[in-house]
Order: sequence, then C-alpha cells, then structure tokens
Amino acid sequence: MEDRSPVLVVHGGGAGSISLERKERVRQGIIRAATVGYNILKEKGSAVDAVEGAVVVLENDPEFNAGCGSVLNVNGEVEMDASIMNGKDLSTGAVSAVRSIANPIKLARLVMEKTPHCFLTDQGAAKFAASMGIPEIPGEQLITERSKKHLEKEKLEKGVKKPDCQKNLGTVGAVAFDCAGNVAYATSTGGLVNKMAGRVGDSPCVGSGGYADNLIGAISTTGHGESILKVNLARLTLFHVQQGKTLEEAAGLSLDYMKSRVKGVGGVILVSKTGDWAVKWSSEAMPWAAAKDRKLHFGIEVDEMTTIDLP
Ligand code: ASP
Repeated sequence: MEDRSPVLVVHGGGAGSISLERKERVRQGIIRAATVGYNILKEKGSAVDAVEGAVVVLENDPEFNAGCGSVLNVNGEVEMDASIMNGKDLSTGAVSAVRSIANPIKLARLVMEKTPHCFLTDQGAAKFAASMGIPEIPGEQLITERSKKHLEKEKLEKGVKKPDCQKNLGTVGAVAFDCAGNVAYATSTGGLVNKMAGRVGDSPCVGSGGYADNLIGAISTTGHGESILKVNLARLTLFHVQQGKTLEEAAGLSLDYMKSRVKGVGGVILVSKTGDWAVKWSSEAMPWAAAKDRKLHFGIEVDEMTTIDLP
C-alpha cells in the first residue's frame, strides 16, 4: 500500500495565562517534542513509537506538568498518571499514582505490550516497573522550585474560587497518524496541584484522557480531570466524528457540552483516520504544535499560529 503523509500533534496542557518569559520555554519544548515525534514517523516508525517519543520529551522538560516538573499533591509529593493506545487493535496501557520513575508513559506502554491488563496502579505499577528494568529514582528528582512555589501559592489561596484552568498547567499529550495509516495517542500528567493523595484524574482513563481507533482517529485531552471524566471527553469527541462531524466541529461540540453540563474547561488535539488534524480548547490557552508535510504549525493563545518549514 502507498505510504501516507504522517502527522504528529502535541499539546502542553490547557492553561490559564502564561507569563511572557515562560511562554518562550514552553514554545520551544512543544516544538522539540513535535519534531522528535514527527521524525520518528518520517523514518517509518509507528504511531505508537511517535506518541511515546514525543511525550517522553515533554516528561523530561521541567516546564510541563508531567514527569519532572509535575505538580505536587497536598503532601508535597509527585503522583503521576499516564496512558497510551494503539488504534490498530485498540490495545491500551495505563498507570496511575506512580511516584519514582522518570517516564510514566514508557511504563504505560509496557503495561499495554507486556501484560494481559490495561491499567496498573501505585505499588503494583512500581513493582512492574522494577521487573521491566525501569530504574527507580528519588521522588525529589521530579520536583522543581516552580512546582513547590505553585503548591505554596495554591495552599495560601485555598478557598479562593479559581477557574479550573488556572489550577492545572502543562499536562502533555500527543496523537499520531503513521505512514501505514495507524493512529495512536499518549497522555501524561502530574494531575492537579494540591490534589488529595491517591487522586486519579482523567489522563490515565481511556475514553477520557484519550482514545485511538484506526476506524475513527485519535485524540488526547487536557483540562479539569473530574469534568473530563464525567463526560468521557475523548470518546465523546470521537463519537461526534463517527457521526460525520469535522474534527473542529466535534471538538467544539464536546468542549461546549463539558462547559455547559459540568462547568469544566479543557482542550483536545485530534487526528482523523485520513490524517487530518485539529486542536481546540476552552481554557484560556493551550500550547500545541502539529507537524505534517514537512511543515510545523504551533501556537499557545487563541488565534495564534506560526508555521515553519521542517528539514
Ligand atoms: N487532566 C489533568 C488532570 O486532571 C490535568 C491537566 O490536563 O492539566 O489530572
């Protein structure tokens, strides 16, 4: 079969306003991740390889709320969630409440490929990681000065009503369409700042934090996890695509529904089964980048899009 033109889209979380100084670092991180993922696809790598590769770059970047740089729970600890899905056969893997590994998305992929299960949590996930040779790292290695300050600020402002989008910043995700026409998604997060210990959000829950099906497309979501879980944002959006809506329309419909039904805000990135792509959010901003046909498009705020040529 003829090769298709591959597509890679990444996001760096639905967010409130981002300071000018931080914006440039976030932009560079997003561009780096999209380029790494797209290069994997150009070299005939699979959609699963590409979304994992892009998300690993973002987990390793302290600017984002995933891996190193994850937000802290009420006890000042990192607890991370991640999931991945292969649209070819609907295989999926997820982990939640993992604390001492650098790249939860790699562990989620191992759950998908090396166990008969879809989801491992906490101690069981940690034991599985050790059995797969994933090194345990001290939790402090994932904590940044910014995440400590963020928690302090959140605790001081406790009781002050804030929009959901200002409590979470920088969850990461990717969707891909590879040369063979397969789609995949990956999502990884530290969750919500000041969350209860043991709180699990939408990101590791297939259907909420993401979904991938070669017959429809792939999606990764970000935003207020409890709201996303209540409406199954990922599957709801793809349902609209299945019903014949364009990616843009489908994303608009499901984000509007989440806002009107449970007052939740968030964002989505999508690829279709034919390699179209879309990004949309109802939060103030969402760092995103999309690579296709050797062009890279990226932006953070509404109506902001820059396009550059890729080598
Ligand atoms: N959805 C994530 C959570 O609630 C947070 C985010 O997307 O920023 O855990």
